[in-house]
Amino acid sequence: MAKWLQGTVVEQHLWCTDLFSIKIRTDPLQFKAGQFVNVGLIIDNKRLARPYSLVNTPQEALLEIHFNTVTNGTLSPLLASLKTGDNIEVSDRSSGLLTLDEIPDVPHLWLFATGTGVGPFLSILKTPEPWQRFEKIVLGYSVKNLEKLAYRSDFEALQTQHPDQFCFLPCVTREKIKATINSRITASR
Ligand SMILES: Cc1cc2nc3c(=O)[nH]c(=O)nc-3n(C[C@H](O)[C@H](O)[C@H](O)COP(=O)(O)OP(=O)(O)OC[C@H]3O[C@@H](n4cnc5c(N)ncnc54)[C@H](O)[C@@H]3O)c2cc1C
Repeated sequence: MAKWLQGTVVEQHLWCTDLFSIKIRTDPLQFKAGQFVNVGLIIDNKRLARPYSLVNTPQEALLEIHFNTVTNGTLSPLLASLKTGDNIEVSDRSSGLLTLDEIPDVPHLWLFATGTGVGPFLSILKTPEPWQRFEKIVLGYSVKNLEKLAYRSDFEALQTQHPDQFCFLPCVTREKIKATINSRITASR
């Protein structure tokens, strides 16, 4: 049976009205970059839990999740209302096959994400492994509005660090934003 690590919220970030990230301190958790954990709150003596991908790397001390609030959702609005110091639980086991172990030895790594789906890719790209394994890495990251382009500065920093190896393709589909793709990727030049 899954065991639960007792955690504390140490930081919250509001990207825009319905988009959040929180950092959580727990006892050490082993996972591979790209994996997810179950995150839970005790409500009326019952645990309410859902899976969330980890945005941090396995080497970083704090766990980080990135999520949007789902209208009438059960857990996500509660997660969004958490404050520094609040209790939160994290499953002591991570899961998921969205890891570099699953990728064969190919020259180019292509990653495509929409919205909060970018979280596990950031975890992977902040580790040394992809930069050692792949000649080129392309990340297509699509959101509706610029304010939802979370972690943009992290990806731009990676672009600066790996100018010849990393191609960051931000797409903003409902606004015309300079230096981003504003249409279907296949329709862009
Ligand atoms: C492996 C895995 C990893 C996940 N990682 C993340 C993550 O990193 N970040 C994240 O935000 N979510 C993630 N999710 C989704 C997350 O687990 C919850 O389903 C989501 O936060 C809604 O939970 P809730 O309790 O608020 O809504 P619920 O009460 O469980 O669901 C309400 C309704 O909303 C629908 N719904 C679920 N997710 C969404 C969504 N994103 N947008 C619109 N409708 C939705 C459900 O199908 C359901 O009909 C992941 C799910 C899985 C299976």
